[in-house]
Amino acid sequence: MDHFELRGGELHAEGVPLSRLATEVGTPVYVYSTATLTRHYTVLRDAVAAHPTAFGDALIAFAVKANSNLSVLATLARLGCGADTVSEGEIRRALKAGVPPGKIIFSGVGKTDAELAYALDVGVRQINVESPAELDRLIAVAAGKGAVPDIAIRVNPKIGAGGHAKITTGGEGDKFGVPADEALALYARAAASPHVNPVGLACHIGSQITDLAPLEAAFRLLTDMTRTLRSQNLSVTRLDLGGGLGVPYAGGAQTASPADYAAMAARVLEGLEVEAAFEPGRLLAANAGVLLSRVIQITDRADGRRFVVLDSAMNDLIRPAMYDAFHEVKPVTPRPGPDRACDIVGPICETGDTFARDRLLPPLEAEDLVVFSGAGAYGAVMSSEYNTRPLVPEVLVDGDRWAVVRARPSWDEMLAREAVADWL
Ligand SMILES: *Cc1c(COP(=O)(O)O)cnc(C)c1O
Repeated sequence: MDHFELRGGELHAEGVPLSRLATEVGTPVYVYSTATLTRHYTVLRDAVAAHPTAFGDALIAFAVKANSNLSVLATLARLGCGADTVSEGEIRRALKAGVPPGKIIFSGVGKTDAELAYALDVGVRQINVESPAELDRLIAVAAGKGAVPDIAIRVNPKIGAGGHAKITTGGEGDKFGVPADEALALYARAAASPHVNPVGLACHIGSQITDLAPLEAAFRLLTDMTRTLRSQNLSVTRLDLGGGLGVPYAGGAQTASPADYAAMAARVLEGLEVEAAFEPGRLLAANAGVLLSRVIQITDRADGRRFVVLDSAMNDLIRPAMYDAFHEVKPVTPRPGPDRACDIVGPICETGDTFARDRLLPPLEAEDLVVFSGAGAYGAVMSSEYNTRPLVPEVLVDGDRWAVVRARPSWDEMLAREAVADWL
């Protein structure tokens, strides 16, 4: 459910007409809904809270990489949400947005020594170690600082899942995590070190997962491993279940609900007496954001093909080009008339800059506004200035109020970041 709805024939973000944002901020622009973010978080929080014995003092840590805007993070932080981070920059963002260090998890395949040192200085809740080599480096960094961080070992369960090969992370050949048998040995090795404190296991098998079966299989593997480790007198107090739950991008699409997901996880974890952590990204943010864009022109070919050319492009929203992702496209002020098939494209000089082919759209004219739905996750965070297009701005709406939470850079600001070498 989201709070982007037609009111008086015009699409609004909560109480704010999108046409007003287009006029005042310009297009393209991302627009986020506070009420939708809040609703998605509270639905998951309540689903988790329904199973207190299974999940202990559970943590929900938003995967910052899905949407790292400071105001989005601050909105979630105020609700009590933690942060799952994959870089020093993301840790800095989470802290600036008000997430306490004790609710920050540091994940990722390639953390540098400098990043590990930063995480220790800050005192994050937990560092998820993804390889034996990383454990060695963390031990060295921690020893140098006299710190003893809580760590989890990220397991590669050889169960990949997700909406596209590029967002599957738990498969055998994927770069993430440690295979189960190696992970057991690594856990024991960590426990023998005075410089790290292994507290648990983690997994994250992929993204846009719409079926619970692969997630359940991965969680069962973690619980089996927990029992094995405990039988070796090793303490395991936390299980980090990762993120990955999918969202309906198309109206009517069926995805497992947060309640079903939590109930499944509770069945698997019940009796184990661990604290669970959940790392949703897409689930909280995707349908809390739209990309608002204007039609530059309609190009009709003699063969009947119609191109709707927008002022947004793959540099603003790369998911269709990168993951063949589907986003619903809706007019802000729908005109009456029959739908017709269109190719929806941006102005960038490559064919990959195509948002959709043969998409049925209601009548559109030049200057009309449209939105891409479900653009709140992996949208603005992946934007760039390719083709020297100014970085797309972001707006947060809350009821009737709104704020520009990332401004569009001016031409001068964009060019001032570069220098002409002094010999030129
Ligand atoms: C990307 C990521 C997530 C979030 O994935 P979603 O599919 O957006 O829920 C969670 N945990 C880790 C370790 C990740 O890399």
